[in-house]
Amino acid sequence: MRKDVRILLVGEPKVGKTSLIMSLVSEEFPQVVPYRAEEITIPADVTPERVPTHIVDYSEAEQTDEQLSSEISKANVICIVYAVNNKKSIEKVTSHWIPLINDNTDKDSRVPVILVGNKSDLVEHSSMETILPVMNQYTEIETCVECSAKNLKNISELFYYAQKAVLHPTGPLYCPEEKQMKLACIKALTRIFKVSDLDNDGILNDNELNFFQRTCFNAPLASQALEDVKNVVRKNVIDGVCDNGLTLKGFLFLHILFIQRGRHETTWTVLRRFGYDDDLELHQDYLFPLTLKVPPDCTTELNHNAYLFLQSVFDKHDKDRDCALSPEELKDLFDVFPYMPWGPDVNNTVCTNDQDWITYQGFLSQWTLTTYLDVQRCLEYLGYLGYSIISEQESQAAAITVTRDKKIDLQKKQTQRSVFRCNIFGDSGSGKSGFLQAFLGRNLTRQNIVSEEHMSYYAISTAYVYGQEKYLLLHEVFPDFDVLSDTDLACDIVCLVYDASNPHSFEYCARVFKQYFMDTKTPCMMIAAKSDLQETKQLYALTPLEFCRKHKMPPPQAFTCNTADAPCKDIYTKLTTMAMHPHARLRCMCTCNRCTFCHLQNFINSELVQTVKAKLYTAILSRHVTQADLKSSTFWLRVSVGATVFAVLGFAMYRVLLKQRSTQRVQASSVQSGSGTCWQPTARSWTLTSWRFYWPSLTATQTERSATRTLSTW
Ligand code: GDP
Ligand code: MG
Repeated sequence: MRKDVRILLVGEPKVGKTSLIMSLVSEEFPQVVPYRAEEITIPADVTPERVPTHIVDYSEAEQTDEQLSSEISKANVICIVYAVNNKKSIEKVTSHWIPLINDNTDKDSRVPVILVGNKSDLVEHSSMETILPVMNQYTEIETCVECSAKNLKNISELFYYAQKAVLHPTGPLYCPEEKQMKLACIKALTRIFKVSDLDNDGILNDNELNFFQRTCFNAPLASQALEDVKNVVRKNVIDGVCDNGLTLKGFLFLHILFIQRGRHETTWTVLRRFGYDDDLELHQDYLFPLTLKVPPDCTTELNHNAYLFLQSVFDKHDKDRDCALSPEELKDLFDVFPYMPWGPDVNNTVCTNDQDWITYQGFLSQWTLTTYLDVQRCLEYLGYLGYSIISEQESQAAAITVTRDKKIDLQKKQTQRSVFRCNIFGDSGSGKSGFLQAFLGRNLTRQNIVSEEHMSYYAISTAYVYGQEKYLLLHEVFPDFDVLSDTDLACDIVCLVYDASNPHSFEYCARVFKQYFMDTKTPCMMIAAKSDLQETKQLYALTPLEFCRKHKMPPPQAFTCNTADAPCKDIYTKLTTMAMHPHARLRCMCTCNRCTFCHLQNFINSELVQTVKAKLYTAILSRHVTQADLKSSTFWLRVSVGATVFAVLGFAMYRVLLKQRSTQRVQASSVQSGSGTCWQPTARSWTLTSWRFYWPSLTATQTERSATRTLSTW
């Protein structure tokens, strides 16, 4: 909203400019007036639109042409005053004043003009007949009004119209000559309609209309009023009301009606509430709220509320309910944007279905990516979707969580983040892109149909770490040493990819590691890509395994995307786990959800254990704890005994659970394989002590993997 309004009165001498101002202020006609009234400021609370208003007089006798020019350029609205009984003063409106104003104002932002016929007390007839053709000729004339400073007729109205001409101008909304709404206004109102149509059925039903009314005018519509509105539309437009709701046609008609009846403020209130400025562009403050500050070492994520909103946006556009957006559905979704924000590369950044349509998962992933990489853009996009309005939030910034400084995460050895960035390094042709695409479930055959120019340097999807869903963002770094920037190096985990079948490939990884990551705390992982091909000896002083051992990295992980089905995703879970626990370098990173370690982790994190633990503690504390207790050693003894009993009980329960699950699993696998061979996790030779090393050897992981395939339905 504007801060203030500056009204300038011009016109021939003696038409009554000064008298009009003084009549407004003193509410009586002044017998004696000076040439020029002092500039007056009316405080916001006494003006109808609650905006401070300055009223400025002009007098030829007291002011130079330069002063007049300067006043014209400062004014927000200009009243050209003539006397209805003075023909010459009317002629001068077009011959002198309008051209003078046009000369002193910018062509693109014409200042609104109001024609004021004063001294209406002196004549019987109206000057409107002469004035209307003038009004039609000059579009900058907002309105005209006849008044009398002497009778105090239409004085406050005159200043109200002037204020309104500034605050709610007709110009951007309506073309009086064509009696039509302007295109930009139709576009804006159409977007507003689409945003407000919460179920996307093309009709604003009573609920949606009430929500709309409440957001724009802070009050719901009485049911009778709602019916009245619909009846007016019904009477005037065919298809304006459908299924007892307002169609877009009806909605636009209502606004034309408001404008034609001089109630522009209604349309403007709606437009402004939905973020539009005076030029009917979405306001910068609406799209880019300044409240969001992102300190270094912090990242940006969407919060729960924002995901709920995006979920509803997806649902509203997934008309066939196939959990993916077809090109038409996607186009419809982005119809409220001024441009199509997602190019074809997005389809290669996130998960898509068999038809290459972005899935629900993929949709949320892409939003997560935008939020992480370019939060301003994310705010802009949320603004187009009307997030703050629909979710009834102060601004788009309410959708964003700025994570805690990573240094604190490292200190506390825990993180609340849900997005982790993995930068992928490797020589050209080493298999980086394949590694990215495999995360989206695409094997080599599927990858080969993607055209080069639609490839993406990012891939994002989810991974489950100990039962928690996290986003892993893979970024392929351009393999040119000279152009490595700080963002290429800043990440939660580094992946070094080499082509196991190319003897020259490993050297690049070793070089990147030594130059950039050897002395950092960022965990690194070596990937031996193209493991389906014949492995060759790498031309480097150390073998990859020796290199990893020497630098305390996990052993190289064999990887291939040349698979019949979707490539295996275990590696991505491992990466996410390492990114989440960078300090746990010597712990098992396995997150297969099948081995003993994972079961133990899941058990510890399970709700049952957490509730039992919480209950036990509250019971102990509320029943027994007094100040004296806290000091006494027997109390602490009781607590520790309690905790031990709990731990023993817990472990016993866990054993029982594990046993149950393994029997189930064995049964399931025997039924499925049909051959009677079964996979027995208990028969594995690893014990908890061997978990001190990273994770089981690769062959063991692979055995496990093939077992999963038969057990996938379990
Ligand atoms: P300005 O030069 O445009 O500022 O005009 P003034 O305010 O000085 O008024 C010029 C003369 O017109 C004065 O004698 C006023 O009393 C008179 N006058 C101003 N407004 C009215 C009006 O509404 N009706 C009548 N009858 N006389 C007016
Ligand atoms: Mg005067």
